[in-house]
Amino acid sequence: MGTSHEVNRKKIRTITLLDMPAWLYQAETLPNRNFITNSEKELLDLIRKYGGFSKVDLMAYTEFSRTKVTSCIDSLLNKKIIIAKNGTDYTGGRRSKKFSLNGELGLVAGVDIGATSIDLGIADFSGKFLARYSEPALVQNGPIKILGRACSLLEKMLKENALSSEKLNGIGIGVPGPVDFSVGTLVSPPIMPGWDRYPIIQTVQQWFPSANVVVDNDVNVMALGEINQGAAKGVNNLVFVKIGTGIGSGIICEGNLYRGSSGCAGDIGHISVNKSGPLCHCGNRGCLEAYAGGPAIAERALTEARAGRSPILLKYFEKNGKVLHTEDVGDAAREGDALAVEVIRESGQYIGDVLAGLVNFFNPEMIVIGGGVRNLGNLLLSSIRQTVLHRSTSLATRDLHIVFSETGPDAGVIGAVNLAMDYMFTISEGSADPG
Ligand SMILES: [Zn+2]
Repeated sequence: MGTSHEVNRKKIRTITLLDMPAWLYQAETLPNRNFITNSEKELLDLIRKYGGFSKVDLMAYTEFSRTKVTSCIDSLLNKKIIIAKNGTDYTGGRRSKKFSLNGELGLVAGVDIGATSIDLGIADFSGKFLARYSEPALVQNGPIKILGRACSLLEKMLKENALSSEKLNGIGIGVPGPVDFSVGTLVSPPIMPGWDRYPIIQTVQQWFPSANVVVDNDVNVMALGEINQGAAKGVNNLVFVKIGTGIGSGIICEGNLYRGSSGCAGDIGHISVNKSGPLCHCGNRGCLEAYAGGPAIAERALTEARAGRSPILLKYFEKNGKVLHTEDVGDAAREGDALAVEVIRESGQYIGDVLAGLVNFFNPEMIVIGGGVRNLGNLLLSSIRQTVLHRSTSLATRDLHIVFSETGPDAGVIGAVNLAMDYMFTISEGSADPG
């Protein structure tokens, strides 16, 4: 681990001005960026993750000396990045001060571009949302329309809430496809005409020149939201699994998002669960997505229902105008429909099989399940849990938690805000501590 970190740092240091993407260059020149030392960043990350932290807490989590913690805290206070509040617990007879992020430092926007919707939020630096908005939008209408709409909505939200666009320091954007994170573009995304390598960052920066813009795929963004403001707060090793139309995962390794060498780590939807299974849109057979993605679940249920196995599901099918939704399968299962229960259980087993492999390989503390299939309820979760427990080594599952996402439909926006925050505070990585 140590070695790969070293290599990454070297890469950042040897970047020249000419090689440097415009957005990275711009970020370096913005105020409040390049004067945070590595030690200050370490404390700041803890303060961000856990909220109010005292010096004693910080010493316990970092093994820094009191002198070192004090000097870093003083420096962060001077730069107005954090603020001090009187805490309620006493150390050595004195009320200990708790440190938290200074919300007034600036504004951060989160933009979650889904296949069929745009969700937006504006938060202060403490992560508190000041404005939220969402509307239906088809990503297949292309980047010019969608990004233009997102930016004009952000402008409107700033105006309506009397917030200055100059204070907007960061914009995090989650997009539903594979992202080359080093340049912030989508690479050959399926069903997204016009988005391939489209300069998202530069487009958004034309609207908001004072902001650092950062783009990542939706699942990575959701994983960030979950560790910062959801069920996985404080978890260091996490797999966030989004099961919607497609299936993907975001990996948090040692507290940081792990993107892999080209940015597509976690693409578990195309792991094969049956070599001779149904054809997947990726061209291979028997991918997890072709068994346990939302549409696959509905399709399997419908085929069996048509064979006479579920009058309830056929009733839903007729009522919807000859369509069966994934949620209908969940509703039918709650009504006690045996076929729906069987289909959900089976889907949980397929997902659990793949997750068991991940658990054996990666040994996470927690797996969070999010995305639309969450609506299938506890039956799905318990089937996933059972399969993982059955198929993974007992040491790997001893302290493993498998839970549903707590951020729910807000995961994308919360995550996008945190993506921007992470990015702004990471840009200074590599700057040495003085002395
Ligand atoms: Zn596939």
